[in-house]
Amino acid sequence: MTNKELADLIFPNITKTPEDYEQTYPNRNLKEGAKVVRFAPSPTGFMHIGNMMSAVINYVLAKGSEGVFYVRNEDTDQARTVEGAVDFIHHTLKYYNIYPDEYEYNNEIVGNYGPYIQSERIEIYHTFIKHLISIGRAYPCFLTPDEINEIREYQTKSKKRIGIYGKYAKYRDLSPEDAATKINNGEKFVVRFKSTGDYNKKFIFEDLTKGKIEFPENDLDVPIMKSGDLLPTYHFAHLVDDHLMHTTHVVRGDEWMSSVPLHFELFKAFGYKMPKYIHTSLILKKDAETGTVRKISKRKDPEALMFFYEEKGYPTIAVIDAVLTIANSNFEEWRTSHPDTPFYEFPFSPKKMSSNGALFDLDKLDNISKNYLSKMTSTDLYEAYLKWAEKYDEHVFNLISENKDKTIAFLNIERETKKPRKDYENYASIFSKIWYIFDSEWDKELNYEFGKIYDKDEIINIMTEYLNNVYDENDTQDEWFNKIKNLCEKMGYASDMKNYKEHPDNYKGNVADFTTAIRVVLTTSSMTPNLYDIMNILGKDKMLNRLEILKAKY
Ligand code: GLU
Repeated sequence: MTNKELADLIFPNITKTPEDYEQTYPNRNLKEGAKVVRFAPSPTGFMHIGNMMSAVINYVLAKGSEGVFYVRNEDTDQARTVEGAVDFIHHTLKYYNIYPDEYEYNNEIVGNYGPYIQSERIEIYHTFIKHLISIGRAYPCFLTPDEINEIREYQTKSKKRIGIYGKYAKYRDLSPEDAATKINNGEKFVVRFKSTGDYNKKFIFEDLTKGKIEFPENDLDVPIMKSGDLLPTYHFAHLVDDHLMHTTHVVRGDEWMSSVPLHFELFKAFGYKMPKYIHTSLILKKDAETGTVRKISKRKDPEALMFFYEEKGYPTIAVIDAVLTIANSNFEEWRTSHPDTPFYEFPFSPKKMSSNGALFDLDKLDNISKNYLSKMTSTDLYEAYLKWAEKYDEHVFNLISENKDKTIAFLNIERETKKPRKDYENYASIFSKIWYIFDSEWDKELNYEFGKIYDKDEIINIMTEYLNNVYDENDTQDEWFNKIKNLCEKMGYASDMKNYKEHPDNYKGNVADFTTAIRVVLTTSSMTPNLYDIMNILGKDKMLNRLEILKAKY
């Protein structure tokens, strides 16, 4: 019996050859230097920040070279597939305006190189596996899970390399006849790659980020097709897909680096050219409790999963910028000189990617985000905030819809100027800074942040005097402030800071203390945007009303 006959026995219905598929999926007609890249997550968990980094880098590489960015659903580990994971991937890409050129989703295939879902490509994989068996580079292996465990235990105990290689690869030299007998007897098997590598020999691999790396050759006979669902393993599926889809650059997590020797050998077995590889760094964070830097964890760190950013309401561009900031050491500089350029025009350089971990820092994201939010017009910010609230905060949604003009007027304070205020890091954080303009919010428990002037009678005095005899809604800001200064002198507070510093004992306090008292009565907070604008938004009646609340609650 020949290997080819054994291959026919295992795959009786496969009649095509790898060459047939090469014709079905011909070379892409792209301009010189165009990169064909893919985002190939496994739906074994929800999209995380590491996936996001791959997606963004891929997108930038494709856009920057007039190439192709496609999404491939790597669902060969069906037992670990998480419901909703695929939907979330497509939702997230769309949410961040990252549009793949080719993909398959909801029974729609876009692109000529599909299917783009691995479980739908089983016939293609079988064709390639059949070919390998027929040329003697793959074989059915009948080791049971128990036997494999025993081998592993033995190898661990005797400090040997773990895996099925050399003498542990018990079935690699089984004759096709004996293999056929076992198959005909119904024995379970996986198909293993038959390695010809030598662990004592080295080969040099060039990663676009990490540079030249020396590896021992692969000598493991890894499974390329599982028993049961007969799906290929990642190693094999990626070889077939990246070859047929004409991927030029594979951007994938660092955890795949150690599989490079195997992948190198697999490509070689078919005589195919390997794509170029960019292994992205692990994403690290500083542990809040211990202060040490560690790998970001889907279990411990809410910011590891992409839900977090959407729920908090970070502008999408801020998240992308934060990701690119850790992905490429020159991104920040580029962003400073190109503040309004779309992120995908950034000339991403794999060499400028950290090779030993990228430290992700939420404070950094907050700063990037504050900057973007500060540059939005008040109406745009309102609309975006409303859209976020519609999904994530019904209470806020109702309040700001019912008080549209007032909300926009408040958001407009110290905005649309050269140096706008940078108050908000995300939509979820806005409400705690604007709630006081909504009357209905004053029913709850209040925490007045009074400073130097905290005596209730004194505060009531100041407010009563101010509201009844001084405040005039027609005043300009200068007139308004002069009137405050006059009143403050009259009531025993220094209106001039210099004067106050020279003779502090002559005064009960100064104009800053005085305005703080007024500010806290109107907002409970000692830090707010421009008080003059807040007063204009509230109007005299509401201010009187805040004074009554103070009398009752403070
Ligand atoms: N499906 C693999 C993963 O999610 C992707 C690796 C790759 O991009 O090749 O880790």
